[in-house]
Amino acid sequence: MNIHTVGVLGAGTMGNGIAHVFARSGYKVLLRDVEQRFLDRGLDTIAKNLEREVTKNKITAEQRSQALANIRPGLDRSSLATCDFVIEAATEKFEIKAELFRELDGICRPEVVLASNTSSISITKLAAVTRRADKVVGMHFFNPVPMMKLVEVIRGLATSQQTYQLVLELAKTLDKTPVE
Ligand code: NAD
Repeated sequence: MNIHTVGVLGAGTMGNGIAHVFARSGYKVLLRDVEQRFLDRGLDTIAKNLEREVTKNKITAEQRSQALANIRPGLDRSSLATCDFVIEAATEKFEIKAELFRELDGICRPEVVLASNTSSISITKLAAVTRRADKVVGMHFFNPVPMMKLVEVIRGLATSQQTYQLVLELAKTLDKTPVE
C-alpha cells in the first residue's frame, strides 16, 4: 500500500479517535485542526484513552508511548504534502469540507487518496471540487473509534475500484472490519 504518513483533519470526537487508531497501528499521523486548544484537547483525550488501554492490558506502556510519539499535531496544512493518505473528520458542514478538499487537492501528491469520515454529505459532491474524483472516498468510523470495529467504505460515483480496495485494506491494517 505504501502508506506511512496519514493526515487527519479535525481533532474532535472522531478525529482524535481516528488519529489514535492509526498511530496505534504504527502510522505517522499529522493531526490538524483550526485552533491549538482543539489539538490540545484531542491529544489529551488520546493520551487518556491509550492509558486506559494499558490499564486493560490491551497494549503495553511502550506501545502507548510509541503511539503518542507517532502523532504530530499542528495548525499548518501545507505540511500535509508529505502524507500518503488523508482522512477528513472536520465539522459536518458541506462548505467546510468542500473548502478543505479543494485545498488538500492542491497540497497532496496527485496519487494520494483523500477520504472523508462524513456521516451525511455526498462523497460525489466532495469529490467534484477536486481534480482527483477517482481518489475520493468515504471512510466512516464509529464512535468510540478505538473500540468500534466497523468501518463503512463509501464510494462516490467516480471513486475507482483501486481507491475502494485501498481503503478496505487500510481499514484491515487498523484491525477494523470494513464493509461497503
Ligand atoms: P467534532 O465537532 O467533535 O469535531 C470536529 C473538529 O473539526 C473540531 O475540533 C473543529 O475545530 C475541527 N475543524 C473544523 N474546521 C476544520 C478545518 N477546516 N480543518 C481542520 N479541522 C477543522 O465533530 P465529530 O463528531 O468528530 O465529527 C467529525 C466528522 O465525523 C463529521 O463529518 C461527522 O459527521 C462524522 N462522524 C461523527 C460521528 C459521531 O458519533 N460523532 C460518527 C461518525 C462520523
